[in-house]
Amino acid sequence: MYSQINYLIMATWQCVKQCGACCHLDERDRPDLDQYLLPDELALYLSMVGADGWCVNYDSVARECRIYADRPRFCRVEAEVFADMYGIEPEELNDFAIECCEDQITGVYGDLSLEMLRFEGAVGINLDLPPKL
Ligand code: SF4
Ligand code: SF4
Repeated sequence: MYSQINYLIMATWQCVKQCGACCHLDERDRPDLDQYLLPDELALYLSMVGADGWCVNYDSVARECRIYADRPRFCRVEAEVFADMYGIEPEELNDFAIECCEDQITGVYGDLSLEMLRFEGAVGINLDLPPKL
């Protein structure tokens, strides 16, 4: 039986250029921020939320981060960061990151959006679809 888990086993997380879904920071969509951000990080996070809900560092025309090399810790999909923030073990990072991106892309663009198609294609989810019966 195929399931979401079967798809994820074959998928490898990567960030897709010109997506930016996780740069939509509106704190009303993330009510549990204080559970995984340190107090100074929470203050920084809130200072980055623009009036439209997008990060003030997000270039909405180029669809990329203006401060990518210097972006905050909580913007980084790295094993050490995810272990600290979410208690995720390194071997769980791939599937967890894929689910995070899917949730974020769904919330910002929709689950049938071009961004979702691009993401799933890039990470390999659609390459492992079961044969039609
Ligand atoms: S949601 Fe995922 S794919 Fe999209 S910009 Fe963020 S990390 Fe990259
Ligand atoms: S700092 Fe950059 S990567 Fe982080 S949310 Fe803002 S635009 Fe996105």
